[in-house]
Amino acid sequence: MVKVTVEYIRVKTSERFQLIDITKNVEEIVEKSGVKNGIALVYAPHATVAIIVNEHEGGLINDILVKAKEFTEPGSPKWRHNVVDDNAHAHIGSAFFGSDRVFPIVNGRLVRGTWQNIFLLEMDGPRPSREILVVVMGE
Ligand code: ZN
Repeated sequence: MVKVTVEYIRVKTSERFQLIDITKNVEEIVEKSGVKNGIALVYAPHATVAIIVNEHEGGLINDILVKAKEFTEPGSPKWRHNVVDDNAHAHIGSAFFGSDRVFPIVNGRLVRGTWQNIFLLEMDGPRPSREILVVVMGE
């Protein structure tokens, strides 16, 4: 029978642009769910963050943040949304990088590459609380 569990991860962010590694949190939720084979959806219900997957290495974390800033252009005079709310860049980042990632679960373990950690990409911090839903489905 298919089992579905929903859990929340809550994190506090301290910078405007920041990567927060949530791999351990997600893996704990998958373990606790008891699902042996299925999928895990990692989803952030926010319009100014993204969920991304890559290596947790200090230099690379810096590189990804540099590129995210270059791509989204915070403070650019061309962003019309900044007239009402000074965070158009973060909405654009969320729209293009995406609010979710899905992972396979095989033999009770979340499947990811050795250099694939799961991150919340904050683009409009600092925020006292960001939520991430983890929906685990399977048998
Ligand atoms: Zn906004």
